[in-house]
Amino acid sequence: MEIILRGIDTEYVEAIRDGGLDANGQVAVRQLAVGTANPCRHCLDLIAEGEQKLVLAYCPFTRIHPYAEVGPIFLHAKNCERYESDKLPGWFAFFQPALMRGYGLDDWIRYETGSVVPGDELTVVASKF
Ligand SMILES: [Zn+2]
Repeated sequence: MEIILRGIDTEYVEAIRDGGLDANGQVAVRQLAVGTANPCRHCLDLIAEGEQKLVLAYCPFTRIHPYAEVGPIFLHAKNCERYESDKLPGWFAFFQPALMRGYGLDDWIRYETGSVVPGDELTVVASKF
């Protein structure tokens, strides 16, 4: 199976940067990044310590259903380029371990896809499904 990794849609990210509302109906919180664990979900790069970041509630689904979870994410406050590749960003290898969970075309969790794997094996494990 071919794996393509993409950051969050650019149109959505730009709307949030322009003051649009997040999944909880709130404007994103603007903060300075502290530490090294601030991944931007658009470019899938790490937000450097001291850079401005946006913190918001995100739901990756377009409709409400029992598995339509909402969670906190970070975005660069500045413009960045959406990630799209068949390879993981290099820093994903530092997830020790990484939790993998797949969803079906109906957006429901597929529990048989759940795995705890070393970060540098995410693509290999995901390609088995
Ligand atoms: Zn970014």
